[in-house]
Amino acid sequence: MKKIPNQIAMDGTAASGKTTVGKIIAGKLGYLFFDTGIMYRVAAYGANQKLHDVSDEAKVGEVVTAMDISLENDEASGTTNVLLDGQNITGLLHIPEVDKIVSTVAAIPAVRTAMTAQQRRIGLQGHVVMVGRDIGTVVMPDAELKIYLVASPETRAKRRYLENLSKHIESETYEMILADIIKRDKDDSERTVAPLKPADDAVIIQTDDITAEEVAQKILDLME
Ligand code: C5P
Repeated sequence: MKKIPNQIAMDGTAASGKTTVGKIIAGKLGYLFFDTGIMYRVAAYGANQKLHDVSDEAKVGEVVTAMDISLENDEASGTTNVLLDGQNITGLLHIPEVDKIVSTVAAIPAVRTAMTAQQRRIGLQGHVVMVGRDIGTVVMPDAELKIYLVASPETRAKRRYLENLSKHIESETYEMILADIIKRDKDDSERTVAPLKPADDAVIIQTDDITAEEVAQKILDLME
């Protein structure tokens, strides 16, 4: 008999397929899909807009804590828009400028405190697939199912490059994406607060040679 976990925590390195796989699983189970990376991207984008520099931890912490972030469902496209102080910034969250500073902003303790509290509230409602870097270790340590996705930096950079091309984003070469992925993984793993790492009870899935659909099926099979 299937025992469907109430909370599914999915972590992993940059561009490891967490979002694609998480969405498939959430869709199959009728669960909420929640991408916590978006929250850190909004924080990074907003702090950079206001301060033009994110090196002053105290100032960034203040700005992020005071941000008015809301979500709005776009019925026509079936997507969710992110609004910062009323402005739709959805299309600006994955630009290279944000990729470059997001790990710096995400390492600031005040930023993490604010984000983690909101993520826990959403997690407690249950029926959720939450993806990020510290979901199984910090945000939902009691989740019944914890997954940690891994793939080589080269595989991940290639996937992200092809995904960008399919969206007509051509501003970054494969080499630039690879360098960003390696740097972000290093920064995310080495930070003091909530570093990227698998929870002790996480199931680690290597995704180099399998498709997102196959990864999702493996995870669904774990529920048997
Ligand atoms: O998942 P994504 O690549 O969009 O995340 C962007 C960045 O946000 C990560 O590189 C990491 O610095 C930060 N992040 C985090 N904790 C999470 C999710 C994302 O620190 N739970």
